[in-house]
Amino acid sequence: MSRFWSDVVHGLQPYVPGEQPRMADLVKLNTNESPFGPSPRVLEAVHAEAADSLRLYPDPTAAALREALAAYHHVTPEQVFVGNGSDEVLAHAFAALLKHPAPLLFPDVTYSFYPVYCRLFGITAETVPLDDAMRIRLADYDRPAGAIILPNPNAPTGIALARAEVAALLARHPDKPVVIDEAYVDFGAETAIPLVAEHPNLLVVQTMSKSRALAGLRVGYAIGDAALIEALTRVKDSFNSYPLGRPAQAGAIASLQDEAYFQHNRTVVIENRGRLAAGLAELGFTVLPSAANFVFARHPAHAGAGLAAKLRQQAVLVRHFSGPRVADYLRITVGTGEQVDRLLAALAQILGRGG
Ligand code: PMP
Repeated sequence: MSRFWSDVVHGLQPYVPGEQPRMADLVKLNTNESPFGPSPRVLEAVHAEAADSLRLYPDPTAAALREALAAYHHVTPEQVFVGNGSDEVLAHAFAALLKHPAPLLFPDVTYSFYPVYCRLFGITAETVPLDDAMRIRLADYDRPAGAIILPNPNAPTGIALARAEVAALLARHPDKPVVIDEAYVDFGAETAIPLVAEHPNLLVVQTMSKSRALAGLRVGYAIGDAALIEALTRVKDSFNSYPLGRPAQAGAIASLQDEAYFQHNRTVVIENRGRLAAGLAELGFTVLPSAANFVFARHPAHAGAGLAAKLRQQAVLVRHFSGPRVADYLRITVGTGEQVDRLLAALAQILGRGG
């Protein structure tokens, strides 16, 4: 490799996604996927679209999907942007909206893709520490900044801000872009979408990967003032003018049409989260209060890395991060009831608590 290319390649430090192993009979609780399949109506729609029209390019404006999302969220289609998963939507938001002379603020414990985008797009970042309870303290964001991005609920802590707190943040920062990344909002947090009408600087990003069980289809979207959406669209059209393939556009619309399935699945995940958190607490873990489809938990006597490695030997995958504030913790995705039981039994055995 020439010196030039090796400098380019070594200068990039990409995001490292959670493992997607091919082992059979795994309890896979490491990447916050849904433990349940998507709505059968999604499968029908994807199949029909693939059978009929795969030879044709998709609609570059994704008009039908944007109309469906607009109707679902009570906004106009001009206020909706769609992309290949919310990661791509976020990438476009970083490129279009978040580069300023003053730094972009985000929490020091948060989604690890944010620093990656900052490096890629040459954005100066400043991280704002969480408080001792691992919560976002909004008063700490009152400092010179070009823009702010927060996940709500935060990841990987799972702790949510109330809509009123997001509104208070927006009231204090009317003059800069504020992005709220709501990848996990459907599991018990309040969306900031109703605030978009009064705050033209607010962009809310959501995904169909988690609560709609469509991680493999790659559908994410943003809702905000039409001017912000236009900025995102210009950046998108400078990379790839087709935001989503035909099966993804069709499947996403079908998912929005099956509200009962969506509500049922997210309710079961919330119930199972309660069981998981209670079981972990019984085993001596401290569990942060989660409004997401995962919990962030630590054991006073066992570091996260060791526990994750021992669970792996028992074919149970969970996520562990390195870093001063998070190394003690495990991030455990909420699975089916059976998966929750298997995880708790494996932990009980590792901790010498029988089971
Ligand atoms: N935001 C947060 C906070 C996430 O944890 C994730 C999932 N890794 C995403 C966005 C991206 O999800 P997707 O690209 O599947 O929509």
